Amino acid sequence: MTFIPSARAYALAKPPRHRRVLATVGDWMRRHQRLIRGVQWGVVAVYAVLLIVPNLLPLPDRTAHVWNNITVFAQFVFWGVWWPGVLLSMLIFGRLWCGVLCPEGSLSEFASRHGRQRAIPRWVRWPGWPFAAFLLTTVYGQLVSVYQYPAPALLILGGSTVAAIGVGFLYGREKRVWCRYLCPVNGVFGLLSKLAPMHYAVDRQAWEDCPPESAAREAFNCAPLVPVRTMESCSACHMCGRCSGFRSAVHLEARAPNSEIVDVSGRTATIWDSALIIVGLLGTATAAFQWSSSPWFVTLKQFFARWLIEHDVIWPLETSAPWWLLTNYAGHNDVMTVLDGAVCLFYIGLMTTAITVAVALPLALSVRLAGPWRPKDFHHLSHALIPLAACGIILGLSATTVTLLRADGFDLTWLPQVRFAAIAGALAWSLWLAGHIAYRQSASWTRTALATTAFALATLAPVTAWVLMFWIW
Ligand code: SF4
Ligand code: SF4
Repeated sequence: MTFIPSARAYALAKPPRHRRVLATVGDWMRRHQRLIRGVQWGVVAVYAVLLIVPNLLPLPDRTAHVWNNITVFAQFVFWGVWWPGVLLSMLIFGRLWCGVLCPEGSLSEFASRHGRQRAIPRWVRWPGWPFAAFLLTTVYGQLVSVYQYPAPALLILGGSTVAAIGVGFLYGREKRVWCRYLCPVNGVFGLLSKLAPMHYAVDRQAWEDCPPESAAREAFNCAPLVPVRTMESCSACHMCGRCSGFRSAVHLEARAPNSEIVDVSGRTATIWDSALIIVGLLGTATAAFQWSSSPWFVTLKQFFARWLIEHDVIWPLETSAPWWLLTNYAGHNDVMTVLDGAVCLFYIGLMTTAITVAVALPLALSVRLAGPWRPKDFHHLSHALIPLAACGIILGLSATTVTLLRADGFDLTWLPQVRFAAIAGALAWSLWLAGHIAYRQSASWTRTALATTAFALATLAPVTAWVLMFWIW
């Protein structure tokens, strides 16, 4: 007797249409890797032009605009569109930017194809690099005014590209060792992509069931070294599509944007994630965006200047440094003295410490209210802060976009409402995630309510910092 499945049984067995569409997109990307590589080289060319050409021209004067000066245009593209846009894209497409468009990733992989192909040393594998590299580049970028001038942009972005090529040339075979371990934004992108509504899902059963000879025929190269068979999180995946359809087990799929943080982060979150979210994104990045508009910075500077004058130590008030150490553009009346640089570092350090303590203590209390103290639970709950941290860094970076658009006469009277909606939405999203994580940890509604209230206290410091920056100062 032949079994003929009923229409209903067939409909149930067949993946829903939206799943098939996304899987088809993934398969298309796998089949069109040459086209993707062509796009990558195109982006490399545009990136090189925008990074190098402004350094060959005089600095723009007050009459320069986005549409008539390549330096201002490059500034707008890099810091006004590219950076906030890439961060936003992480929340929508995961790390598609990394897999398809990033010039640094493509160059590093290219160098690795033709380089020494050595084993990856232990120092490269240190898991603290994403945190340390993000902190260092954020603070250094402020000291040299990376958002304002082309030379520091070339130094930081170009230096990072040279380092990516060097690491690619030395280590791995056709891999992106730089991306996996050392890229300063790898950690941030990995965190933000956890909220993406799509990912490459792996069906373990289908993977195991696939005959080895068929798997050998389909072999692919995962450049960022993701262990695809056991992949649960999409943090390390560059969404390049090369594994799509492998063993009939890997497919691009839609998912609930909260699913990874609620269901998976309990197993994958680490102390370095918590450090990057709390110290890096909520602390240092907020302080770095804020110091130049802060009256507290001015008060601190005046206090130290007075103290130095009283003690007859004048040189820190008069001495400047080369532009690659401290901002130094005398022709534009923009020079940081040693005192300015030291107070800037002090302010960022102080604010980072204050925000870190103000976030970490209520977060720890929240974990304790949900159940017994477990560091793993703390790191899991810190992932609930990702929407808030993402909102802060996107709004902070878009401040450069706003400055440039205002200078070009655009009417942005609607901006305060958009900022308010973004912060309120991110706050609600973080609270929602915290409530669900707390319920998982406690399995009690009372404990969940108490833990979520404590979590709400943890959000006060960063939200206050943004309110001060956007509405009060
Ligand atoms: S990890 Fe960094 S260098 Fe690598 S592709 Fe992503 S952004 Fe580019
Ligand atoms: S797991 Fe690797 S090969 Fe597959 S899409 Fe992600 S980065 Fe590409």
